[in-house]
Amino acid sequence: MEWPPLRAELRGAEPYGAPQLDVPVQLNVNENPYAPSDEVVASIAAAVADAARTLNRYPDRELVALRAALADYLGHGVRPEQVWAANGSNEVMLQILQAFGGPGRTAVSFAPTYSMYPEYARNALTDWVVGHREDDFTLDLDHARAVIDEHQPSVVLLPSPNNPTGTALPLEVVAAVCEQAPGVVVIDEAYGEFRRAGTPSALELLGEHRNLMVSRTMSKAFALAGARLGYLAADPVLCDALRIVRLPYHLSAVSQATAVAALGHAEELLGRVDDLRRERDACVEWLRGRGFEVADSDANFVLFGRFADRHAVWQGLLDAGVLIRETGPAGWLRVSVGTPAEMAAFRDALDQITGHDS
Ligand code: PMP
Repeated sequence: MEWPPLRAELRGAEPYGAPQLDVPVQLNVNENPYAPSDEVVASIAAAVADAARTLNRYPDRELVALRAALADYLGHGVRPEQVWAANGSNEVMLQILQAFGGPGRTAVSFAPTYSMYPEYARNALTDWVVGHREDDFTLDLDHARAVIDEHQPSVVLLPSPNNPTGTALPLEVVAAVCEQAPGVVVIDEAYGEFRRAGTPSALELLGEHRNLMVSRTMSKAFALAGARLGYLAADPVLCDALRIVRLPYHLSAVSQATAVAALGHAEELLGRVDDLRRERDACVEWLRGRGFEVADSDANFVLFGRFADRHAVWQGLLDAGVLIRETGPAGWLRVSVGTPAEMAAFRDALDQITGHDS
């Protein structure tokens, strides 16, 4: 037997990973640049200390306190039994594919899109079919309908706002896809809190489509990427189904306590979202002013291009101490929105590389 005895389709595959480099300005994985305040840190520390007193016991398998706190945060009439949570929305998504995908079944998305989706599908032994987005990265409904009609997917994965393009989906498109899809439709709102005014959350449609699942994360707007806490809202029947495939006690007592404590400070943790939105819009405008093509963004990152040699630009920025992401369609680069000082460093470095006098 070949060694290590990997599944055939995993041979030669590289593990997921943006480069983890020690660079002064890190704008590569769409994190929130603002660390929790001392007050939030103290709350989390106290909650974790309480949890530590019971660490000889397994945690609450059904995440009762956490699901109630998340339902409360989501609003839109969402009830705790409509909420599910796991270690990052990565794990939520894998559970969805384990429960609703599987051998002989198909998951569908539309490229360019989040690079982990095909990996979740592969890991859950689910066929992967990818349609396309238009040149402006919107989703053409006729095309989406045709792909769904042809492949009859049991799972459709649609990020809104999309990663890496930042494009949010109009609710009419979400509703039409839900109507057409024979299985579940996951609207991945990892960046939902960063949307511009006038692009509502798919949470508004929850009561109307029993196959709609809206996934969220505390990693981005909540500035809690290190805690690994993702969640979703859906019909209780779908949440219940995910309990079949979750590992026993999958979400540690420490994670649950951290998330509940952080949700108690939602207002403060989300307080920087407006600043980040403003910084994003300024970045889009600045890049356009410099003559770049820039995708409209409803997220905390901006996709811009196009470069004949994007790797050279990425490397040039890195040499100047600014790490961004070489991702998306050929010729494009993605920059996460950081603090004003970090964005100034990005602009200066890009000007130097492209020979622009600032
Ligand atoms: N969905 C999308 C579209 C993302 O970009 C990311 C993170 N980059 C995730 C889900 C996963 O986030 P997490 O596991 O941290 O919740």
